Amino acid sequence: MNQSTSEQPADIVARLRATFDTGRTKPVEWRTGQLRRLRELLTEHGADVAAALHADLGKSSTEAHRTEIDFTVREIDHTLEHLEAWLRPEPAPVPARLGDDARAWTQYDPLGVVLVIAPWNYPVQLLLTPLLGALAAGNAVVAKPSELAPATSAVLARLLPQYLDTQAVAVVEGGIPETTALLAERFDHIFYTGNGTVGRVVLRAAAEHLTPVTLELGGKSPAFVDRDTDLAVVAGRLAAGKFLNAGQTCVAPDYVLTDPETARALEPALARAVESLFGSDPAASGEYGRIVNERHFDRLQGLLGSGRVVTGGDSDRATKYIAPTVLGDVAPESPVMQEEIFGPILPIVTVPGLDEAIDYVNQRDKPLALYVFTDADATRERFAAETSSGGLGYGLPLAHLTVSDLPFGGVGESGMGNYHGRYSIETFSHRKAVLEKPLSA
Ligand code: NAD
Repeated sequence: MNQSTSEQPADIVARLRATFDTGRTKPVEWRTGQLRRLRELLTEHGADVAAALHADLGKSSTEAHRTEIDFTVREIDHTLEHLEAWLRPEPAPVPARLGDDARAWTQYDPLGVVLVIAPWNYPVQLLLTPLLGALAAGNAVVAKPSELAPATSAVLARLLPQYLDTQAVAVVEGGIPETTALLAERFDHIFYTGNGTVGRVVLRAAAEHLTPVTLELGGKSPAFVDRDTDLAVVAGRLAAGKFLNAGQTCVAPDYVLTDPETARALEPALARAVESLFGSDPAASGEYGRIVNERHFDRLQGLLGSGRVVTGGDSDRATKYIAPTVLGDVAPESPVMQEEIFGPILPIVTVPGLDEAIDYVNQRDKPLALYVFTDADATRERFAAETSSGGLGYGLPLAHLTVSDLPFGGVGESGMGNYHGRYSIETFSHRKAVLEKPLSA
């Protein structure tokens, strides 16, 4: 089932396609059975999975459960509860010219063999949530964990075959050569989570086979802070969202956008919020994660020179530790504002007011998430109407992606397509149009 068995990508895909063609994956009982097995894996081996996440990213057990293991279990439970209702054919009104006896409806057909390529930052959740969505939709799946989270990749490659139907699910471990070899094969859907450069590689490879693609990408997600808000609350929520997983979260607030006066008051509030989350020495806190590898550590250290350090700023390459850092007076032209930070550095950029903040957002790539902290309905409405982003969060970062009934995905540079809950069924199915007209005259 995984690459250690030396089975070639072409053989794996052919084997899974043969299974799919028998119809084995289509009955709802098979689908729910697979989801239940996945749930058992996570509950019986939660400790093994959490240990792997600690080895790869220094995630605490609490964080590993909350953001990866329990998150996936909740998504399984939600899907098990609603799957039959979601799969029900949906009647469509028929025009009178087709006669009273004509009927029309849509039904969901599984696509076939799906490839899921996952990144390293939430290496459990971001492999298993698309995987369970694809299984719930009745597909066979090749799952490719990230080689940059090697302990998690190994534990999932070991456990998934013990729990899931190995005739319909395969795990392929490896890096660029293995993924490139997989991408040469014909899949019926490719679901990729990661960066936009590789997203383009995936899309080009998929074009060869006319394979539909979902791209879950990243980018700089802004957090606008309005005047006259409760800055202690705002700072606490911003810091919790930003410094979770040491800032290596695709929907983390990337930077703060506010007016100069609010910025001055927000700075000490953020410093206090960091201290209340991780104590006066975050390096000693068991709740604070580490940077995934030296390459990302060096990249992030290069960004620490922008602006003025409000809190944090220290780092240790040997342990891949970068302190939760807030930077004030950051110029839009500075290095930290040129690319997605994807680490524990929160720059504050000032603009004169609301109009300029909206312009600032609109002059840049469409973000995966946009956060607005305000008490004013009119301000909320302006962001909703005048900006475009994958998701929009008022008052609380990250939480929208935990709502299974909301679609999760980007727009423009932050991606295409979406998933979670019933949206995963939409993504991993073909919605077939059916018309029926009795043969009687
Ligand atoms: P990564 O380096 O782990 O890459 C992701 C996957 O792409 C891996 O499985 C890897 O093997 C594969 N890959 C890498 N290079 C490849 C190549 N040349 N050809 C084919 N496959 C290749 O993860 P990453 O890209 O560093 O992840 C970070 C990015 O992902 C950030 O931009 C982040 O915002 C984004 N992200 C988005 C989401 C989302 O849900 N929208 C979630 C997490 C991360």
